Amino acid sequence: MTTSAEWFDRARAVTPGGVNSPVRAFGSVGGTPPFSVRGEGAWLTDADGDRRVDLVCGWGPLLLGHSHPEVVEAVQSTAARMMCPGGSTIGEVELAEAIVGRLDAVREGAVDEVRLVSTGTEATMTAIRLARGVTGRDLVIKFSGCYHGHSDGLLAAAGSGLATLALPGSAGVPAPISGQTIVLPYNDLDAVRAAFAEHEGRIAAVIVEASAANMGVVPPLPGYNRGLAEICHDDGALLICDEVLTGFRTGPAGWWGREQEDEERGGWTPDLFTFGKVIGGGMPVAGLGGRREVMEHLAPNGPVYQGGTLSGNPVAVAAGVATLRLADDAVYGAVDAASDRVVAAVKREFDRVGLPFAVQRVRNLFSFAMGDGAALGWSGVDEFGAPAPRNEDEVKRQESWRYPAFFHSLLDAGVNPPPSVFEAWFLSSAHDEEALAHLEAALPAAADAAAGATAP
Ligand SMILES: *Cc1c(COP(=O)(O)O)cnc(C)c1O
Repeated sequence: MTTSAEWFDRARAVTPGGVNSPVRAFGSVGGTPPFSVRGEGAWLTDADGDRRVDLVCGWGPLLLGHSHPEVVEAVQSTAARMMCPGGSTIGEVELAEAIVGRLDAVREGAVDEVRLVSTGTEATMTAIRLARGVTGRDLVIKFSGCYHGHSDGLLAAAGSGLATLALPGSAGVPAPISGQTIVLPYNDLDAVRAAFAEHEGRIAAVIVEASAANMGVVPPLPGYNRGLAEICHDDGALLICDEVLTGFRTGPAGWWGREQEDEERGGWTPDLFTFGKVIGGGMPVAGLGGRREVMEHLAPNGPVYQGGTLSGNPVAVAAGVATLRLADDAVYGAVDAASDRVVAAVKREFDRVGLPFAVQRVRNLFSFAMGDGAALGWSGVDEFGAPAPRNEDEVKRQESWRYPAFFHSLLDAGVNPPPSVFEAWFLSSAHDEEALAHLEAALPAAADAAAGATAP
C-alpha cells in the first residue's frame, strides 16, 4: 500500500508544492496532507485507510455529502451516453431554469438568464468583463478578505489562501491591471461612498461575496449589502453579488435569498450574481446570471466575449441538476440543524477550557475566531454576544497560532477540519447522528490542545 506521505513525495516531484490548489498543501497547519481515496456521505477515507468525518465537503459543493447515489447515477448515466458533444445539450437548459426559478421565487426578475462556465474564477472574471462592457467604465471595487477566484484583477487582498501563505497578492499581475481594482475594507459603507465620490462615473462594478466566507465567515452587517446596491445604482455602476460559495448552500436562493426574508437585511437586488460550487454538486460547473438587458451584452448577442470548450459540459451539469433537485427545504433544514449542533458543541468545549472566541456565522456556514475579542479590538458582536471580527484586519488579529494544535488533534481523532483557521466549516445533509457524535467526541481533546498551544 502506498501511504499518503509517499503519495505526497511523488506529487511534489511532478507538481508544484505537490498540490493543484495551494491550501491543500497544509501550509498553515503543517504535516502531510492525506490523499483521499473514497468519499461516502459525511466520511472521507485516505490512502492510509483512515476514515474521517469531513468538514470541508469539497470546499462547499457537497451539500448532500460525498457521492450521493442519485448524483452519481445522474453522472454515470450521462457519461455513458455522451461526455462532450461540442454542441448544446438539454441539461444546460435544465440547470439554468433551476437557478432562475429559485431566484425568481424570491423576487421576480432577479435573474432572467444564466451563462454557464466551469469554475467560479471564470464566473467572476466574466461578470467583471460584462460589467465593464455594459458601463463602458474600467474601475472595480472589491473588499479585502473577499475571494473571487484567481483572475488577475481580483487577486488583491483575497482572503484565506493568500492570508494562509501571508502573500499580499500575487506576482505576475501587471500594475496597470491591479491598478484598476480598488480594495476597500469590508462592512464599511462610508469607505465605499468615499471611493465613489473620488471616482464618480468611473466605477464599473462593486464585487462582494453575498456574505464574506473566505477569511473565515464574516457576516455582512444588516443593511450592508442593500447599501452597496444603493451606492452602485446612484452612480450607474453594477453590483456583482458573488454567491459561488454561499449560493444554494446557505439557502434555496443563496445568502441573497436569506437576506430577503429579513426586513432589516432585505430589499436589494444585485445586477449580476455569480454561482459555482453547489450548482456543480462536486463537478466543474459555475455560472453568472442577471437581468436580460445586462446578460444580452454577452456574445453571441452582444459585444462582450466569453466562451468555453467545457462550458455547460453535460456530465458536469448532470451532477448540478441532480443536486439542486435534491436540495429541498428538508436538506437545508438538516444542514442548519447540524450546524446549530456543531456550533453549540464547539462553544461548550471552548467555554470549558476558558478559551475566548467568536462564532462567525451565516446560517449553516460558520467558523471560529480565537482570542479575547475585547482585547483584540473586534468591533462586531456574535450570536452569543461576544465581540467578533467584522473585517479582514480584525480577523487577522486572532490567535491563529492556536489552530494547528486544534486541527491536528481533530485530524488524529478521525475528523477532517479545514486546514486553515481562515476557512469556513462545511457540513452536509449526510452529517447524521453517527458523524456528529463522532465529531463531538473529538472536540474536548482538540479544545484542550488549542488552549494549551503556546504563542510563537
Ligand atoms: C471558490 C470561490 C470562487 C472561485 O471558484 P473556483 O471554482 O475555485 O474558481 C469565487 N468566489 C467565491 C466567493 C468562492 O468562494
